[in-house]
Amino acid sequence: MVIHLSQTQYNRITQALVSVYPQEGCGLILGQRVFLGAAPRADDDRRVEAVIPVENSWNPAVLEDLDLEGAHSLRDRYWIDPVTMLKVQRSARSQGLEIIGIYHSHPDHPAVPSECDRRLAWPVYSYLIASVTQGQITDLQSWRLNEAEQFQPEPVKILGSSTNNSQLLS
Ligand SMILES: [Zn+2]
Repeated sequence: MVIHLSQTQYNRITQALVSVYPQEGCGLILGQRVFLGAAPRADDDRRVEAVIPVENSWNPAVLEDLDLEGAHSLRDRYWIDPVTMLKVQRSARSQGLEIIGIYHSHPDHPAVPSECDRRLAWPVYSYLIASVTQGQITDLQSWRLNEAEQFQPEPVKILGSSTNNSQLLS
C-alpha cells in the first residue's frame, strides 16, 4: 500500500497549499489503483495521474449536525462542495481515471488527521495531509482508513525527484 506521485504533482499540491496559507487548502487526487492481485484489495497501491486544486468551501453550517466541539474556521477546517466532487468525478471517468483521494493542509499543525477528518473520511480514499508551518511545507503524509475506520499511514513515493529517483517520505 503505497501512493505514487510525480515531483510535478507534489509541487502542484504543495504550491497550492502554501498559496492559501494560513487557511486550509484542499484538492482532489485523480489516478488509478495498481492492483496487486487479481481483484481489487484495500491495500492496493495507487498511482496519481492528476491533482485538481478546489476551493475550500467550508462554512459553519456544513458541520452543524456532526456536533463537533468548539468554534472553527477556514484555518482549521475544509470542505469540498459535493457538486464540485461530482463534476470532477465525471470528467475523471471520461478519461479512464477516478478520484483516489483528497489532499488538504494543516496550517501550523502536524500532518496527522483530526477526529473531524476521520469522521468525514471515505474508506476508499487516500488522504494526503501537508503540514504548512509559517507558510512553508514542513511535512506531507498520506493516510487510509482501515476496516476499523482508523487511519493508517500510507507511504508516499515521489517519482522523478531531482535529487533521487525515488524518495520515500514515510
Ligand atoms: Zn485535516
